[in-house]
Amino acid sequence: MLKIVEFPRPRSEPGGEGQHAPLAERVRDFAALAAGKAEQADADGFLSPDVMAALHDQGLAMAPFPPMYGGEGLNEPERHGQLCATLRAIGAADLSVARLFEGHVNAVALVCRYGTAPQVSVLARKVESGALSGVWGADDAKGLRAVEDGDSGQWRLEGRKILASGAGFVTQPLVTATSEAGQILCLVDLSPGERSDTAGWTAQGMRSSATGTVDFSGLVLPAGRIIGSPGDFTRQPHFSGGAWRFCAVHVGAMERLADLFRDHLTFRRREGDPYQMQRVAQCVAAVTTARFWVEAAACGLASPQGDADRIVAFANLTRMVTERAALDVMEAVHRGVGLGSFMRPSPIERISRDLATYLRQPVPDLAMADAARSVLASEQPTSALWEPVG
Ligand SMILES: Cc1cc2nc3c(=O)[nH]c(=O)nc-3n(C[C@H](O)[C@H](O)[C@H](O)COP(=O)(O)OP(=O)(O)OC[C@H]3O[C@@H](n4cnc5c(N)ncnc54)[C@H](O)[C@@H]3O)c2cc1C
Repeated sequence: MLKIVEFPRPRSEPGGEGQHAPLAERVRDFAALAAGKAEQADADGFLSPDVMAALHDQGLAMAPFPPMYGGEGLNEPERHGQLCATLRAIGAADLSVARLFEGHVNAVALVCRYGTAPQVSVLARKVESGALSGVWGADDAKGLRAVEDGDSGQWRLEGRKILASGAGFVTQPLVTATSEAGQILCLVDLSPGERSDTAGWTAQGMRSSATGTVDFSGLVLPAGRIIGSPGDFTRQPHFSGGAWRFCAVHVGAMERLADLFRDHLTFRRREGDPYQMQRVAQCVAAVTTARFWVEAAACGLASPQGDADRIVAFANLTRMVTERAALDVMEAVHRGVGLGSFMRPSPIERISRDLATYLRQPVPDLAMADAARSVLASEQPTSALWEPVG
């Protein structure tokens, strides 16, 4: 059954009450709220309207825009450290919320990078008044097609997107479509619930991410809603290099699992056991290794003199390291806590389910193989491979 959740409009205007605290403080407050609502959201299969309203009220939805559009420049290269910390904090709180925020941040970055000033301004005004964006790239076998309607500047869409998170309430999605000239990016204006169906989202985790299909057939895009030029979406190094953002979210969830494991051991007075100590050490080492990789990947993408091939290779390896670390952390926590980590409503059970699901990202083998190919093609010694990146 189609579930339509209308989120309330933000209570405060950007720059208004509630947004004077430093961003880190607002992120902390928002993460605490999201963490407190995560269990209920998982049980309900949809996010708390309070959390989505707070994303706007705390200024986080606007934060990725440049200051000239009313944002805080969170997507600017020099702010990559703060964006990384923000994604980790929200990932630790609720992975479904973090998925939506990460998609929104990516969409805003793409519109700012490839769109015109009026297009950025239009999106910023929509977000300011309560909308959220996201990137919907996944296709079924037919894919989404876009046909230009003469010289009108309008485009007609045919087909649907699948695995679109926030389906039903992301009302300003950036969607990829195939056109005669190649793959284009369309910024679509939807009403809540329009064209979306989340009934098929039966995954074990990420239940409240509202991941579903959105059928755009027959939709006519008004002029000015095509962002950039054909091929921009997959332009490197940003296309693959941006993977560090979802890796940061995964690191946040791992950090939370490691904390829950430690709390469990001390509560049960099992912290002195050498086998458990070994698990704690392995967990923290794995999480911290992934965090260092993610921070280096973010730094590499932000670096103005970075070499695109190396940034991409490093990001691909970061995906591999992060996935491995997450699988290792989950195994150690499950073995160390035992059956309790599989019992509801243990947060370990929910976070593990969410993380195991969200870890499934596109073409992991290809990402790893591309990184290996890049290393094999390089004449640099391993010691100097990443000098311009990390
Ligand atoms: C919670 C959640 C939210 C999401 N939200 C969005 C969203 O908002 N927008 C969006 O665009 N997408 C979204 N996605 C989809 C996501 O980006 C990926 O497309 C999807 O998760 C990949 O799933 P997969 O494991 O089937 O990938 P696949 O790429 O099919 O990988 C599965 C396995 O097959 C292997 N493989 C892949 N291709 C080949 C091949 N040609 N030959 C042999 N082996 C191959 C891979 O290496 C891997 O081992 C979401 C996914 C999740 C889990």
